[in-house]
Amino acid sequence: MTTIKLHNTKTRKKEVFTPLDPDNVRMYVCGPTVYDRAHLGNARPVIVFDVLFRLLRHVYGPEHVTYVRNFTDVDDKINARAIETVGEGGDVNAEIARITGMTTQWFLDDMGALGALEPTQMPRATQYIGQMIEMIGGLIADGHAYEAEGHVLFSVESYKNYGALSGRSVDDMIAGARVEVAPYKRNPMDFVLWKPSSDDLPGWDSPWGRGRPGWHIECSAMAYELLGESFDIHGGGNDLMFPHHENEIAQSCCAHPEGGFAQVWMHNEMLQVEGKKMSKSLGNFFTVHDLLEQGYPGEVIRFVFLSTHYRKPMDWTEAKAREAEKTLRKWRAATQDAEPGRVSDKFISTLSDDLNTSEALSELHRMYRTLQRAEKDPKQDAFVPGLRSNLLASARFLGLLDAEMGYWAAAPEADLSGLETQLFQARQTAIDTKDFSEVDRLKSALVEAGVEVRMSKEGVELVPGAGFDPAKLEGLE
Ligand code: AMP
Ligand code: ZN
Repeated sequence: MTTIKLHNTKTRKKEVFTPLDPDNVRMYVCGPTVYDRAHLGNARPVIVFDVLFRLLRHVYGPEHVTYVRNFTDVDDKINARAIETVGEGGDVNAEIARITGMTTQWFLDDMGALGALEPTQMPRATQYIGQMIEMIGGLIADGHAYEAEGHVLFSVESYKNYGALSGRSVDDMIAGARVEVAPYKRNPMDFVLWKPSSDDLPGWDSPWGRGRPGWHIECSAMAYELLGESFDIHGGGNDLMFPHHENEIAQSCCAHPEGGFAQVWMHNEMLQVEGKKMSKSLGNFFTVHDLLEQGYPGEVIRFVFLSTHYRKPMDWTEAKAREAEKTLRKWRAATQDAEPGRVSDKFISTLSDDLNTSEALSELHRMYRTLQRAEKDPKQDAFVPGLRSNLLASARFLGLLDAEMGYWAAAPEADLSGLETQLFQARQTAIDTKDFSEVDRLKSALVEAGVEVRMSKEGVELVPGAGFDPAKLEGLE
């Protein structure tokens, strides 16, 4: 059987992965808080753990892998967004239901467009409130949590390994962190398991009054319910390592001292844009949906993500996206009529080395070059179909060259910039002369050729559509 090696944040080492039960390999990944579109950074853990999910399914069999990724649908940020959009006197709860429902679907659509398989289970936090209450009750009973002014807090001093994952001591944390100092906390690092809710906000009856859960307990309760007290892999972005994952460990290990919670912790590094942190104030913030709308095929976005190893910071650049698109066009053309064949052992062993996706892409490049050489050499004719099939199968293993994603590749390449300038100038002239016949002639010829014409004051944009036929543009310029 293939040996998979994974870097474990807990031990800071790359280790041979040995599942607790090879008949049911279990993975939990922290999912999104649903109140807005997923930004490009949010796609990184989705794609990284999608590749791992595919690899685990390949090695252990699809029916032997359980992948859980939650939706956080109760959160202060959701409440704040709903209050903002519904306005004074509106029904906040109804607005919350609308926002979480809509953005959950957006998330699934956008991640589907990036070729991510759906996890085995996608629990929503609000469906597991009972389990959270039960877990919190147990923590209080065992002296790991206490009630104060309608809140329930986890006592970090009650868990001796608190801080082990991120390698900090409680004293360091207090010195370095901007912690919320609340008078009811015994230790400034104690964190909220349950908090009171006002009547107009979502709340559930509990032994500590009407309230709602803290964020960390949600993941602990859902992971326990769906995967048990010990499971194999827990993943997320490295921004979640502290405090979120540290708190998950504290809660789960104290609630279920016999279990080990997650054996392997995996963290992806952050995404940047053109060398800078992506942020609204720098004007380089965008969502996955923005990019898809701009015409980037999901597959091109996915390729760019795969080209950087998950434990390295990743830079999204236009140049990389253009390069990815060129490569994918070549590979698609080369495998057009092929049936997927065998995924090579080399390819699988590359991915099994702590998900070396960038090296796996290099392997695809090599396979493509081998195919090209064979196509040019009559002596190698017999090998061509097999090489094509293997390239297709290996690319598909990574979620690329999917038939479903293929519509975009059908459009032949064409440089329409000359026609854009020509149409823009024709329109400027027409505004002066009041004679629009040349503009109309160009426009109808373009539409006839399957090109969408977008005109604004700033300029003209020509977008080839699905039925684009460049032959019909000949002689127009
Ligand atoms: P959030 O919506 O901030 O809770 O993030 C959801 C997921 O996206 C978490 O796993 C984060 O670690 C991850 N994430 C957020 N921002 C980035 C980023 N810039 N690069 C990579 N992953 C990110
Ligand atoms: Zn979580």
